[in-house]
Amino acid sequence: MLSNLAVRDIETLVHPYTNLATHREVGPLILERGEGVFVYDTAGKGYIEGMAGLWCTSLGYSNEELVEVAAEQMRKLPFTHIFSGRSHDPAIELAEKLKEIAPVPISKIFYGASGSDANDTQVKLVWYMNNALGRPQKKKIISRLKGYHGVTVASASLTGLPANHTDFDLPIAGILHTSCPHHYRFAQPGETELEFSSRLAAELEEMILREGPETVAAFIAEPVMGAGGAVTPPEGYFEKINAVLAKYDVLFIADEVITGFGRTGNMFGTTTYGLKADTLSCAKAITSAYFPLSAVMISEPIYEVLVDQSRKIGTFGHGNTYAGHPVGCAIAVKTLEIYQRDDIVGHVRKVAPKFLQRLEKLAEHPLVGEARGVGLIGGIELVKDKATKAQFEAKKGVAAKSGAFAQDEGLIVRPLGGDRVAFCPPLIINEAEIDEMFDRYERALAKTLDWVKAEGLI
Ligand code: PMP
Repeated sequence: MLSNLAVRDIETLVHPYTNLATHREVGPLILERGEGVFVYDTAGKGYIEGMAGLWCTSLGYSNEELVEVAAEQMRKLPFTHIFSGRSHDPAIELAEKLKEIAPVPISKIFYGASGSDANDTQVKLVWYMNNALGRPQKKKIISRLKGYHGVTVASASLTGLPANHTDFDLPIAGILHTSCPHHYRFAQPGETELEFSSRLAAELEEMILREGPETVAAFIAEPVMGAGGAVTPPEGYFEKINAVLAKYDVLFIADEVITGFGRTGNMFGTTTYGLKADTLSCAKAITSAYFPLSAVMISEPIYEVLVDQSRKIGTFGHGNTYAGHPVGCAIAVKTLEIYQRDDIVGHVRKVAPKFLQRLEKLAEHPLVGEARGVGLIGGIELVKDKATKAQFEAKKGVAAKSGAFAQDEGLIVRPLGGDRVAFCPPLIINEAEIDEMFDRYERALAKTLDWVKAEGLI
């Protein structure tokens, strides 16, 4: 029986990333409050938020310091924009802090409100810069199949997932996709991780040469792929990619929207995997998701071009109303202060071995073909046959079923395409909560196996 609130939801909302037909039948999970790493629904049932919302609530659900700073800023100055050279203290302080902790030399910060708009800004900056430099043909951007960079027109084009393109008339021209670096799924039989990385780097080089290096401007990648399956890169991958990009003067845009701020056991995934990034996109954990805020970190050479252009043509014609929102900036300043004061990176390194041990142990289950992660992010893949890696038919929704069983057990995980399931809990999670999270998922897996057998899927 659907609750009154559930019925009102069905009558009023179009939910993002939802099977809208199914939703009309089953209705929503309505959450009401949160505490630590737990969220509670309207019936009072608690769930471990094993996905930190959408890879974002790094400090959990009841951080009073963030609430306080937000209230204080709202009372003082709830809004001012930063157009036309206007500014405010939190925007400046946040930019200073971001520059301080950036994993590569950064000159300036450009604010937005979402990961998608940050990546749109990246695309526009690349185009704008190359026009300014008198090389208007150098505009193409290479992304990766299964990469996720957002849903706006340019960022959805960068995203390498069919659901974001089909019937949306995307991708736009000038966006190319190279192979997905998922060794378990795409390596040839017997191919080592290093060999696989070399093959992918060679493919990237071939693509650049085929297109003409004078037409390829940038490459964008997440240090750890998120929505494409929570996929950690194979050994040597970024080292080899760095070399190809450097050879052809192709900028490296690091999409740190998920990996930024401690997730992989360093402040940035760029450090964990040695990306030679020119610019970075950040969002999500920048405010622990207590406010929508994104930041593009811009290098000095790119910034110099922007200033030069203003000398020639005047205004830099880009930016959103809420860019550098004072409440968001104040929350982000406090969030970064907490990360440093509480040594969140140290905490992630301390609990990650437990997380990874429990994650990797899932691979002993008959349905789990792969289980792999880094820091406090990881993914598993449910397969029909572990020996051959044969997959279930997509429409059977096996991973989604395991997610539903997990929900019954009081755990939120994220089923993704290819029957992958992501784990990405708040960074403040402790070892006992990690054990509880995986205990719950193991029970969900046991139910999934029974269901798969009952349905005759294996
Ligand atoms: N980049 C990455 C790596 C992401 O994971 C996401 C969101 N999951 C985005 C960009 C887009 O961010 P948003 O949903 O805030 O637009």
